[in-house]
Amino acid sequence: MTKRTNPLDGLVCLVTGASRGIGRAIAMAASGAGADVALNYYRSEQAAANLADQLTDRGGRCLIVQADVSDAFQVDNMFNYIERHLGAVDLLVNNAGVAFKGLLTDTGDDDWERLIGVNLTGPFLCSRRALPSMIKKRFGRIVNIASMQGICGGSCEGAYAASKGGLIALSKSLAGEVGPSGVTVNAIAPGPVLTDMLRADLDEGEMEDLLSLLPTGRWGQPEDVARACLFLLSPQNSFVNGSVLALDGGWKA
Ligand code: NAP
Repeated sequence: MTKRTNPLDGLVCLVTGASRGIGRAIAMAASGAGADVALNYYRSEQAAANLADQLTDRGGRCLIVQADVSDAFQVDNMFNYIERHLGAVDLLVNNAGVAFKGLLTDTGDDDWERLIGVNLTGPFLCSRRALPSMIKKRFGRIVNIASMQGICGGSCEGAYAASKGGLIALSKSLAGEVGPSGVTVNAIAPGPVLTDMLRADLDEGEMEDLLSLLPTGRWGQPEDVARACLFLLSPQNSFVNGSVLALDGGWKA
């Protein structure tokens, strides 16, 4: 049994979409808590490399790994690479995501496939690849970054909401399936969090309107999600399973 000084000492954590925004904050928090962290990125190689330098300077052990999470072959290669360099993944954070705003009638086949591919097929592929070693060790944590839209729906965000609703259903189903093997699966459903994704979605007026609806009077920050994620990743929290944590400052989408 590994003796832990920090809560995640001796554990290998994969964060998908760790180059920017929420994933970046989660990777920093996991590294700060002692985990060896695999930073997955898709296009933002430089940002991922900068983050890796930052974590290494602080004494963390990490690597960067490029993969499109919607592609089974690339996901398999990513896990093989992590296993060779850090070891099997104990903690999986399915964070990579893409958004699309528009009428359903303006949503193309390719938009739909991209949203479902990255936001839902990605977590399916990564979880399927991570689970055998977690089950063998009788320990693992999977945290899926969903969205309030996955609970409440979202006008002009049908494909996005459907992908996140599917992710919540996947989390709850898997929690029942692998709970007996010591693996917990939980989802976080953030409301508006100030990242590139939110800024790309809304113009200035829409941002002001939305902010006025948030009971806390402020935007969610990536670090808010990271703190919640750390709680769900902790080996101590073995009784929190199949939950969906609304992290929205009291706002309901
Ligand atoms: P973001 O700033 O746009 O970052 C998205 C991340 O996903 C990037 O690191 C990007 O990697 C990665 N990514 C995109 N496509 C990928 C692919 N095919 N394979 C692997 N990685 C891919 O978004 P964010 O706001 O941090 O969102 C993170 C998660 O939180 C998403 O799942 C999102 O749906 C969810 N969320 C966000 C909000 C919000 O208000 N921001 C609210 C609720 C839920 P590269 O840059 O390397 O391409």
